[in-house]
Amino acid sequence: MKTNPATLELSQDEMKTYGYQVVDAIVSHFATQNDKMPVAMGSREEMDSLFLEEAPEKGTDPKEVLDFVLSKVMTNSTNMAHPKSYSFVPGPSNYISVMADTLATGYNIFSGGWVASPAAAELEIITIQWLLKIFGLPQKKGGGIFTSGGSMANLTALTTARRIKCGQDFSKAVIYLSDQAHSSNVKAIRVLGFKKEQIRIIPTDIEFKFGLNKLKNCIAKDRLEGLQPFCLIATSGTTNTGTVDPLTDLAAICKKEDIWFHIDGAYGAAAILSKKGKQLMKGIEKADSLTVDPHKWFYQPYEMGCLLVRNHKHLSSTFTERPEYLRDIEGNTSEINFYDHGIQLTRRFRALKFYMSIKSFGLKAFRKAITYNIELAEETEAILRASKKWEVVFPATMAVINFRYNPIDHNFNQTKLDKINQFISEKVVASRKALLVTTLLHGQVVLRMCLINPRTTLDDVKDTLELCEHFAAESPELS
Ligand SMILES: *Cc1c(COP(=O)(O)O)cnc(C)c1O
Repeated sequence: MKTNPATLELSQDEMKTYGYQVVDAIVSHFATQNDKMPVAMGSREEMDSLFLEEAPEKGTDPKEVLDFVLSKVMTNSTNMAHPKSYSFVPGPSNYISVMADTLATGYNIFSGGWVASPAAAELEIITIQWLLKIFGLPQKKGGGIFTSGGSMANLTALTTARRIKCGQDFSKAVIYLSDQAHSSNVKAIRVLGFKKEQIRIIPTDIEFKFGLNKLKNCIAKDRLEGLQPFCLIATSGTTNTGTVDPLTDLAAICKKEDIWFHIDGAYGAAAILSKKGKQLMKGIEKADSLTVDPHKWFYQPYEMGCLLVRNHKHLSSTFTERPEYLRDIEGNTSEINFYDHGIQLTRRFRALKFYMSIKSFGLKAFRKAITYNIELAEETEAILRASKKWEVVFPATMAVINFRYNPIDHNFNQTKLDKINQFISEKVVASRKALLVTTLLHGQVVLRMCLINPRTTLDDVKDTLELCEHFAAESPELS
């Protein structure tokens, strides 16, 4: 093969040289990322000044483009895989999956239909089976699909729930979620065209769990008004505090009321691989549908979400269309066309990275890493409790901990505490040494650490707390 711009081709030697340069860059990133600054910052003006140009008619030497990208693009992106990236939900990633993604892209495998790529479809079936088993969902009847992320998994779930419970007419349908449910659910509900009046946001209790009494009252009222309660969204691991809703109780209510039981486990569901997580998530096996997000706590690189369902037929009866241009690749019923199970037709081969990383490391390694994460958050809690400067606002739960600077020898009021903690977070982020932002719990500004990176050490956490204390002393309230 020769260089041929007419076919967008490089010669074999050029491909190798270029490919090795890319791999070298990735390996060097993996080898040095713990020591880099996790936080990138740049205004629109600054980014414009780096990148703004018309699409060039004439090509540039690929090596030059690559070097430019490595020095300007990659360095100006926050690293969610950094051990000191504590905010939102980090994405620790792993090298095997990165290479698997490279393979899937390199071979450009179409993971839509069986006929196009039987092995890819089979690997998706197999890995979904692994997940069904992990979560105690029925393996024979159950099914699922990999998506771009948790948001798409939730959208796929709610579309299915509505189709199965309401059929064509959803004018009276009502959906229930708690005030701690993830925003992607509300987004999905909006995408589906529900009116505001069809959404019930149920207040959570003091521990941020779904308020059962309020929920029951609400369902009863809606029935009296002739409405159709059709779906409930529980969360197993809220993004704010890691709280798991009372799944068994919610499952019982849904069963009694003939309501679709969706569990959003995008953040926390993977914790079922640890002993503690398994205890916390009792009842998860009762879900009609369950969102899992492997690009979070299953350590996969972006993008990879997953929806599991109790009955795979529910997906196919929601998403199957039979256009004439796909008639030759329909196949039989055991040979699944994943385009019939979700929204996308053309899909990348996401199952491969999950498959290769679990095969290479073994599930045991994942169990260990997740257990380590949960314990790290608990050790962090112990350090905070033993300190005169810190207050634990919500205890370590599923590797999330919420705390605030509240020195014992000052009697700061609420407003001042909010200001100090906001100040600490801003200073820490501006230092670029750690990604540590705030959230609101019962209206209080708190710092939140999500400790799902297996490369984060207790020393990293201690370092970061010291950094916070250093900045706290500089805050106007204290100086
Ligand atoms: C992250 C998250 C989502 C959204 O998932 P994406 O992969 O970001 O689309 C949904 N629900 C919960 C609980 C989450 O933590």
